[in-house]
Amino acid sequence: MSVIPHLINGELVTENGRAVDVFNPSTGQAIHKLPLATRETIQSAIDAAKAAFPAWRNTPAAKRAQVMFRFKQLLEQNEGRISQLISEEHGKTLEDAAGELKRGIENVEFACAAPEILKGEYSRNVGPNIDAWSDFQPLGVVAGITPFNFPAMVPLWMYPLAIVCGNCFILKPSERDPSSTLLIAQLLLEAGLPKGVLSVVHGDKTAVDALIEAPEVKALSFVGSTPIAEYIYAEGTKRGKRVQALGGAKNHAVLMPDADLDNAVSALMGAAYGSCGERCMAISVAVCVGDQVADALVAKLTPQIKALKIGAGTSCGLDMGPLVTGQARDKVSGYVEDGVAAGATLVVDGRGLTVAGHEEGFFLGGCLFDNVTPEMRIYKEEIFGPVLCIVRVNSLEEAMQLINDHEYGNGTCIFTRDGEAARLFCDEIEVGMVGVNVPLPVPVAYHSFGGWKRSLFGDLHAYGPDGVRFYTRRKAITQRWPQRASHEASQFAFPSL
Ligand code: NAD
Repeated sequence: MSVIPHLINGELVTENGRAVDVFNPSTGQAIHKLPLATRETIQSAIDAAKAAFPAWRNTPAAKRAQVMFRFKQLLEQNEGRISQLISEEHGKTLEDAAGELKRGIENVEFACAAPEILKGEYSRNVGPNIDAWSDFQPLGVVAGITPFNFPAMVPLWMYPLAIVCGNCFILKPSERDPSSTLLIAQLLLEAGLPKGVLSVVHGDKTAVDALIEAPEVKALSFVGSTPIAEYIYAEGTKRGKRVQALGGAKNHAVLMPDADLDNAVSALMGAAYGSCGERCMAISVAVCVGDQVADALVAKLTPQIKALKIGAGTSCGLDMGPLVTGQARDKVSGYVEDGVAAGATLVVDGRGLTVAGHEEGFFLGGCLFDNVTPEMRIYKEEIFGPVLCIVRVNSLEEAMQLINDHEYGNGTCIFTRDGEAARLFCDEIEVGMVGVNVPLPVPVAYHSFGGWKRSLFGDLHAYGPDGVRFYTRRKAITQRWPQRASHEASQFAFPSL
């Protein structure tokens, strides 16, 4: 079994000490050992970042962007290799892995525009011979902590932008599927990034706490589950750091009686069961307005869920792979049991699925619940698996109240042909990302990504324009150059025009 190293100051570093296994979820076998960084290891990455910062922040933005242009090319050239690694350790299908990489590359493309996005704001002649401008300066050493479900895309939401803004970055990826994340970081070094500007350290709470507590780390970007997001936000902000912490989700799709049902069903199948439901934007609740819609939806979904092609993610032409760990599979199965006990109707039961040739894999078939009600755990909590819950309501207003009352507010969508209903939904729904006939409304890289309520702690969303603000701080400069030498008397009143 090979050992996955850290990447610190441009070098691959192994360490003896605490370690965990990384599994191939399709076979259920441990395939790598992953060291868990000590505080000293984290400090060595911080020291390297601190040393690299002065030269990197003074490197012209256009030169920093050139590294990103080369990085983009290398990512595209290595798409097959990266997708294979994602699929091997996460379990998602190769096509899905390639899709997440493409969405990650979008963020590198956005970062290529660094000279444009960092131009600042300028006002000439704000007073006699006085000009004023705002400069957006890097923060210094910043860190990111990322989840297992997008080992390529989520880190790419963070460090290309942070780095192109002139910061040095320490990434602590998920310990479940770190190989693609590490390879991608190595490609950035190959693209010409100076050593120390990006380090990747593997680890658990010890590593994360060391990053939170280090005074040199000025900002933390986190994506993961809500309890950890809340912890990192509280601990980071307490120490005066800038923190954006994106958490969990329960995403509702509203089906109106006038929706194009066949298209809505196709969209729901992908959004609920794609990546085995392990997406923070996965649709996990279908809210049907009227029993007729619900009955028709159940009738159309049932055969399609039973026909899902499920197997090892690295095989071609599949709809779904396994869950990431045996523990995750058991947790999701536990929710299914809980839903049955609570009185929901289990229309399709995916438990007990075995895949020929992969009997030890962490597989679970698609599950469908009807007649789910808001007080049930399967409605309230994030299941993060291939389980779709149908809730029946009588009106759009009732559907919106349900969504607005939920503790999470990451994504939502409405399927309708009615512009008025769609407009009301967009205006009044308390969710950060909204789709109209679009099931997974993940914003493109030049908009920003973020939920509301307990799906995000912090003021700024991830990537795009908010990302630039997050990774820079504004400096307002007011400058006066008198036209000719002249003496001006002291002014004791507050300066004004
Ligand atoms: P997780 O919270 O278990 O882990 C995320 C990161 O936090 C990992 O790097 C992990 O090592 C670290 N971590 C875990 N326990 C910790 C602790 N006690 N102290 C400090 N750090 C700790 O999440 P996960 O299981 O990897 O990912 C799935 C979750 O992420 C889901 O809840 C999903 O909704 C969420 N997610 C949210 C978004 C979003 O944009 N809102 C995107 C992707 C995933």
